[in-house]
Amino acid sequence: MSSSLTPEAVIAALRTVVPPGPLALHEPHFSGNEWAYVKECLDTGWVSSVGKFVDRFEHDLAETTGARHAVAVVNGTAALHICLKLAGVEPGDEVLMPALTFVATANAVSYCGAVPHFVDVDEATLGMAAPALRDYLENNADLRAGACFNRTTGRRIRALLPMHTFGHPSDLDALADVAARFRLELIEDAAESLGSYYKGRHTGNVGRLSALSFNGNKIITTGGGGAILTNDADLAKLAKHITTTAKLPHRWLFEHDMVAYNYRLPNINAALGCAQLEQLPGFLDSKRQLFQRYRAAFSDIAGAHIVEEPAACRSNYWLQTLLLDEASADRRDDILAATNDAGLMTRPAWTPMHRLTPYANCPRAELPVAESLERRIVNIPSSAGLT
Ligand SMILES: *Cc1c(COP(=O)(O)O)cnc(C)c1O
Repeated sequence: MSSSLTPEAVIAALRTVVPPGPLALHEPHFSGNEWAYVKECLDTGWVSSVGKFVDRFEHDLAETTGARHAVAVVNGTAALHICLKLAGVEPGDEVLMPALTFVATANAVSYCGAVPHFVDVDEATLGMAAPALRDYLENNADLRAGACFNRTTGRRIRALLPMHTFGHPSDLDALADVAARFRLELIEDAAESLGSYYKGRHTGNVGRLSALSFNGNKIITTGGGGAILTNDADLAKLAKHITTTAKLPHRWLFEHDMVAYNYRLPNINAALGCAQLEQLPGFLDSKRQLFQRYRAAFSDIAGAHIVEEPAACRSNYWLQTLLLDEASADRRDDILAATNDAGLMTRPAWTPMHRLTPYANCPRAELPVAESLERRIVNIPSSAGLT
């Protein structure tokens, strides 16, 4: 017999899965070589802008993701900024992105002097909805001289920037088709999807450039950090150059050949990253197990379900999601209040980008699914090691 979706039922279901006591939404887990590698940085004095852990971390990231090149940077937002810039996003361009994302996706576009353009998401992937996007562009964009233009604003639409929500891959094949049809650069915001695969390929490999994040709440952390992934050797070289002040190699001269950024990841952070990456397979197992236990625990509660990885995908299950049915959406706030009061940290989805003050006037498609999901998503405790 199924029980109804009361805050008490949600707390009881959570407690059948997680250990007693207060729980954060997502905590880092340091149970490998973190101390040893960080100590090595301190002992040798290599804490900052150069050192062997940066090279090793980039190598290990490329190996893990299957991307030919990885460039470590100071955070995921910086990685996105450089991805967009190297993909040719210029001031006055528009960049298509899901309305349901973390604000960093939109901010990185703004840093380029470009304008975010919000499109709807899909209920099954929680990411950009390719069919709706295609219809929208057919009706609202023109192709001229090999470029795509917004019929209303007249601005060039330069790029498509899907985001793999909570680690669940977006439908990359379908999105790549739309990008090709409308001559858009495809860039993946893979900040949440290290360890997630779309049809057997690690996320971040379909876009020409992709961004990862290693913020403290992500599946692995470097304290703060990010990386740019690409399969293009020239872009990788340029990414390294532009994130390291464009300094030309010389024994003593300070020569710089372009306006560039100090976005490099310090060695001490990369040391943490190397140790964390060694533990990624274990984190992935633990998160998959947590998903299975939550799914079973909530199977008897009517009016909500635990979000499962999309078809043909293997999700990293970074953040677990209790998704309320439309008819139960009005219970969300009671559930959030009661779980947090009980020491079980839960969170709603982000406020959609088009409702944030800095982005309220940006161009956008109809956003019925993003609006609906935003009222129904409850993220629940998701740390690796909870099982
Ligand atoms: C975490 C995150 C980023 C990047 O965040 P940083 O804190 O700058 O590393 C970008 N996009 C999304 C969707 C994210 O979740």
